[in-house]
Amino acid sequence: MCGIIGVENTQDAATLVAAGLMTLQHRGEESAGITISGNANMKTFRSMGLVSRLVNADALNKHDGTAAIGHVRYTTSAKSSLINAQPFQIECIHGQVAVAHNGNLTNFIKLRDTLLKKGAIFNHTSDTEIFLHLIAMSKGNFPNVVAKSMSLVEGAFSLVVLRDKTLIGARDVNGFRPLVLGKLGNSYIVASESAAVEVLGGKYIRDIKPGEIVVIEDGKIIKSFFYKKPKKQHTCIFEQVYFSRPDSVAFGQSVKAARMKMGQFLARQMKGIKADIVMPVPDTGYYAALGFSRESGILFEQGFVRNHYLGRSFIKPAQNMRDMTAKLKLRPIKEVIDGKEIIVIDDSVVRGTTSRRMINVLKEAGAKKIHFVLSCPPIIGPCYYGIDTPLKEHLIAATQSVEEIRKYLGVESLTFLELKNLVNSCCPSQTCKSVFCTACFTDKYPTRISKDAYKECG
Ligand code: SF4
Repeated sequence: MCGIIGVENTQDAATLVAAGLMTLQHRGEESAGITISGNANMKTFRSMGLVSRLVNADALNKHDGTAAIGHVRYTTSAKSSLINAQPFQIECIHGQVAVAHNGNLTNFIKLRDTLLKKGAIFNHTSDTEIFLHLIAMSKGNFPNVVAKSMSLVEGAFSLVVLRDKTLIGARDVNGFRPLVLGKLGNSYIVASESAAVEVLGGKYIRDIKPGEIVVIEDGKIIKSFFYKKPKKQHTCIFEQVYFSRPDSVAFGQSVKAARMKMGQFLARQMKGIKADIVMPVPDTGYYAALGFSRESGILFEQGFVRNHYLGRSFIKPAQNMRDMTAKLKLRPIKEVIDGKEIIVIDDSVVRGTTSRRMINVLKEAGAKKIHFVLSCPPIIGPCYYGIDTPLKEHLIAATQSVEEIRKYLGVESLTFLELKNLVNSCCPSQTCKSVFCTACFTDKYPTRISKDAYKECG
C-alpha cells in the first residue's frame, strides 16, 4: 500500500504536502518523496524511511513552489530502494512532469516489454514508470495525454500528477484504491484519505470517482472527465478492515463506524460466548473490539501496549530472536490478562506466524483461555491491486481449514467475520453490495490477472 497527496495554489504547498504525508504515514514507511513546482523549476526530494527524515532536509525547506505532490511507499523489504521512491519526475515534450501512484498494474510486464522493444529506457523497477513513458510518448492536450496513458494500463491506480502549477488527481475505472478531493481556502487538495485533508485544516468534499480525472489549476477545477466509462466499481474492502485510518471516510463510509459494525456482527456470530474481557490487537482491532463489547456486554480492556517506534525499518532478527520481536511490538499488560478468559480481536490472519507469536505472548502473560476473532474472512488469495499479501502458498487459510488453523494457533476458538457481514459493515446503503473487491477472500478477481502480474505496490 502507498499514500499519495497533492496540493496547489498556495505558497505553503511543500509544507502542506509534508504534513499530509505524515498523516498518511501508516500507508507506507519505507520511503517518502515530495515534488515541488509552480514557482521555479520542478524539483523532487526523496528519501528512504519516514517522512520526518525528508522534512528535515534543508533543501526541501528552501525550495518554494505553489504546487506539490507527495508519496509514502510500502513494499516488500527486498524491493525497497531509493531508486523506486516516488514521486517520479521526468522532462518530456510536455515539459517537467511528476507522478505519484498508489496501486498495482496487472499488465505491467507486458507493457514494459512492448515499450522496451520500442527503445524505451527504464530507470526504475516500479510499475509506476509506465505512466511516464506513456505520457512522454503521446502528443496533445496534457489531460487527454494522461487519460490515454490510463486507458492503456490495467489494474489498480490512484494517481496524482503535477505539471507546472497544474495538479491532476485520477482513479482507475474499478476504483480499487481511494482518492479524495478536499478544499483549503483557495487551494484544492487531492489525497488518499480524508484525514490527510482535514489535518491540514481543509474540508473533505467528495471521493474522486472511479475512472475520473480531475484537473485543477489556480484554485479551480478546470476540467473533470472520465478516461473510461465506469461499469461496476470494485473498491478494496480491506481499506476499511485494515489500511485506512479510523478518522477517515473511505468510499463514503466512516472507517471507524465500519469497524464498530464489524465488531457488532462478530458478537452476533458468537452469540452466547462467555469471557472475562474483549481486547483488541492494536491499532486496527480497536474499534471492532469496542463494537463487540457494546453488542455482547463483555468488558472492553486494553491488554496490549503497542510500541509505535519500531516501524518496518527494524532489522529482521535472526530466527531465535523472532519471539523477542513479537514482544517488542506488543507488550501485554499482565494484570489485565492473567487468569482471564479473553476474546482477542485482530484484523486478519495472513501467514499465521505473527498471530501464533502474539498468542504465545498472551499465554505467557497468564491468559487462561483465548478466543481469537478476526474482523474479516479467511484470506485465501493474494492481492494484485496494491497490497503486499504473500502468494497463495504462503497464506495459511489457502491451505488449511479453520479447525487446522485453530490448532496451529493454539486457541480455544477461532472466528472469522463472515463475508456478508463484512460487506454489510462497510455498506453505507442497502444498494451498495456489489461495489467492493473481495477477491482475497473469494479468489474471484474482478479483472484479468496475467500469469506474470507484477505484485508490488507502485
Ligand atoms: S484483493 Fe483484497 S486487498 Fe486486494 S483490492 Fe481486493 S479486497 Fe483489497
